[in-house]
Formats: sequence, structure tokens, C-alpha cells
Amino acid sequence: MKYRSTRGNSPEVESAAAIIKGLADDKGLFVPTEIPTLPMATEELEYMNYQEVAKKVIGAFFDDFTEEEINNAVEKAYDGKFQAEEIVPVVNAGGAFFLELYHGPTSAFKDMALSILPHLLTTAVKKQGEKDKICILTATSGDTGKAALQGFADVEGTEIIVFYPEEGVSAVQKMQMITQEGDNTHVFGIKGNFDDAQRGVKTIFSDRDVAFRLKDKGVKLSSANSINIGRLVPQVAYYVYGYGRLVAKGVIEAGNPINVAVPTGNFGNILAAYYAKKMGLPIRTLICASNKNKVLDDFIKTGVYDSKRDFYTTMSPSMDILVSSNLERLLHDLAGGNSREVKDLMEALANEGKYEVSPEIKKGLIGFLSGYAEEDETLDAVKRMYRNHGYLMDTHTAVAYKVYEDYKRNSCDETPTLIASTASPYKFANSIADAIGLDEEEGGTVDEFTVLKKLSEKTGIPIPPGLKDLETKPIRHKKTIEIDEMMEAVETSL
Ligand SMILES: *Cc1c(COP(=O)(O)O)cnc(C)c1O
Repeated sequence: MKYRSTRGNSPEVESAAAIIKGLADDKGLFVPTEIPTLPMATEELEYMNYQEVAKKVIGAFFDDFTEEEINNAVEKAYDGKFQAEEIVPVVNAGGAFFLELYHGPTSAFKDMALSILPHLLTTAVKKQGEKDKICILTATSGDTGKAALQGFADVEGTEIIVFYPEEGVSAVQKMQMITQEGDNTHVFGIKGNFDDAQRGVKTIFSDRDVAFRLKDKGVKLSSANSINIGRLVPQVAYYVYGYGRLVAKGVIEAGNPINVAVPTGNFGNILAAYYAKKMGLPIRTLICASNKNKVLDDFIKTGVYDSKRDFYTTMSPSMDILVSSNLERLLHDLAGGNSREVKDLMEALANEGKYEVSPEIKKGLIGFLSGYAEEDETLDAVKRMYRNHGYLMDTHTAVAYKVYEDYKRNSCDETPTLIASTASPYKFANSIADAIGLDEEEGGTVDEFTVLKKLSEKTGIPIPPGLKDLETKPIRHKKTIEIDEMMEAVETSL
């Protein structure tokens, strides 16, 4: 299987080369030339553990890797660093099934892909005979940054540079990043939002002069954002696994359909579910949930993508995004691989901040259902779920749950639904404490780390090890920069 650029002006390459490059030379994203079929029967899934499913699914996409190479990567990635032995527990609460993707070392679902990406990348480097050092350039809305730092810290032959919006992440997220250890780690706060960070990173990627200067130093840039196909493919595995758990629990019979609801920002996670569906996993409806920055909800409803709108900082900061990168991959697929069309749409987005898709693409959006949650609706969802079912959701997951509830009420569709549960509630402790009324009882606490402890006392759920004692760790990364200093920051870090 080969990988081609969504914009069509880059040669087709094997997956190892696509993973090393991150972004194609024409600024497009790598997509597989075909989506493989599900490498197992749905009847087999209930007997397979997470690692077994991941090996098969990832192997089906990255078939230039040997079986041994894939198996090694999977075993090194999904091990004791995860707090849950089954890696991804599926929990039934409030009429839905929560696919708990947050038990990795940094307490967000980004660990699912970023604990394996370093292994895939270092293997790819060996396979391709790559001599240069790989520098991972990452823009983060909060969770990718820490998960990437954790995954790549002290990995030989790599450097990692992370840019996060100084004012746009939670206190816990910020501490996680600026206390990161490892001689090859570099972290910068930027005076801008996630879209600024992502745009800056993409600009550095496509700057030929930078590429030449770095080449002189023996450095090549790559990406740990979900623009890298090496991040996206490992995410397909957990939908396949989750389906098997529903069969094992007797919720569905093998072969019967499920729905999937995903709290969406950069469209990576839900695109992985779409790929799972294309492989043949019986998914009926893909529920795309936005927060108040509801550019995707509007797009799915109207076919018009309009990024020119007010930007809101919300309590689900990892979804505060107006330019959703991975949508480009969906457009490419729905346009039947017409890269000319994708290129035109992306140019319109860059120049006018807006585009409208063709009737053909619009028709393809029918498999998606979308909705959004206002801030008070998100808090209310957390509160009701905790009060009525004793289950604690984080704010991102709550957005998806709220949109799922709306859908269920309006459609009367009783199909069992997997909700992608993307972060530990402890990562956004202040908002969660607010939702379950902790603040009032305790007389109001502003320090997020104190809240963490109180939340744990109240709910009886232990604080994840990566978040415990975070406030006493030494700060190693203190730099804050302007948006237009990102390029300089990269060059001086290397
Ligand atoms: C990144 C993130 C999201 C959004 O995922 P996308 O793949 O960007 O759509 C949702 N929730 C949490 C907690 C995240 O970290």
C-alpha cells in the first residue's frame, strides 16, 4: 500500500517515508491509496486483547513494516505505562458506552497514538536508511504537547519542540509540559491560540530555506500532530477493539451496528472512526461533537466551512480550534480522490478563510451527524452524569455525551453508542469541581492542584500518577515567544 498527498503534487511513498515526513511536500496530508479491509472477522474480536487488535489493524495500513516490527512497536507502546490493564476499558454509564482512552501516562487519549509513534518513527528511520536527526515539531492545544514530549523524551536520534498557546491551556496541562524532563525536549508558550501555533508550524514545514539550513545541520523536520499518518492509524485500532468489547459484554451481536460519538477538534479522532467504518467495522452513525467553537457542526450541516468567526476559550480547550486539519483527509476521500478539488478548497481556506464543498462531497457527509454544546450545557452534562450515575466525565467527553443525548432524543435511534472518552477528569479539575459543586462546599478554591486533591477525596477516584505532585516538580521550560518568533525558536533550539 502506498501513501499519497491529498493535494496531488507529491510522489506516492511507502508508509515509513510518510511517517518520517509528516507533511507532504505540497503541504497536503498523506492518505492511504486505499483503505484496507478489516483484518479479522467481527466474531473474532471479542476474544482479542488490545495489543492483538492493534497489531492487526496497524499492520494492515503499514504493510511495508514487517510483522515483527509492528509487533515490537505495539508491545513497547501498550504496556505498564497504562494505568488500566486492558489499556482501553469500556464503561457503561447513563445509557452509553464510554471508550476510556485516557489511561496512558499523560491522562489524555493522545497517548494512544503518541506512545507508539516514536517506535514507528525510529523503525521507519532504520528502514529508510535515514541518517539525519529527526526533529518533531508540534503545535498543541494542550494534550498533544505533553503526550508527544513524554513519548519522545530522550529517544535517540530525535529532538522535540512543542508550541502551546500560553493563555489557552489548563493549569495542569501547562505544568505537565513545562516540567518535562529529557535533554532533547524544548517547550515554548506562544502569544496566540492553537490555530496560530498550527499555522506557524505548517509554515516552518513548508519553508524551503529553513529545510536547507537544517539539512546543513543534519536535521529533518517531522510532526507529531495528527497531520502525521503515523498518529492517525494507531487510533483506528481502538474503535475496532471497542466494538469487540460490546460484543463480549453481550450488548450487540457480532456484525450488528453501533454508533460512535467523538468530541472533535482537529478531526483526527473522528477520522480514525471513519477509517474503521470504511474498513468494514459496522458503524452506523458517526456523531461529531463540537464545543462553542462549532465550525465543524456548521460545516456538516451546511457544507460551508467558515473559519472567520469569533474564537472562544472554553472549558474543553483541546477542542478550541477553528482550522481543523484532518478534515482535508475526509474531503479527499469524499471527493473520490480528486486532489485538484481538495487543493482548491484548501487554497480558498488559506486566502479567504472559507470554502463551500461540491454537492458530491456534501452527499458524503450524510454518514455524519453533528451537534455542539454551550459551556453551561457541558457543565450540566458532567453534573447530571455524576449525580445520576456516579460516573465522572471530563469536559471534552461531556461535550460528546451532550450531543449524543440530543441525537438520541431527536432520532429515537437506540443503536448502542461508543463515546470516545478523551481525557481524565483530573486534567480539567477546576471545571469538573465546579460542575459537581465542590467549590461551594469547600468555600471556593482557585488553586487547581488543591482542587485535584479535594476532587479525589470526594469521588474516591485516585489522582493519576502523572498528575500527582505535579506542582512540586521543577520548571524546566520558561520561554514565552511571539507568533512570529517560532521559526527563530526552532533554529536556535537545534
Ligand atoms: C485532542 C483532543 C480532542 C480533539 O481530538 P481531535 O483528534 O483533534 O479531533 C478532544 N479531547 C481531548 C481531551 C483532546 O486532547
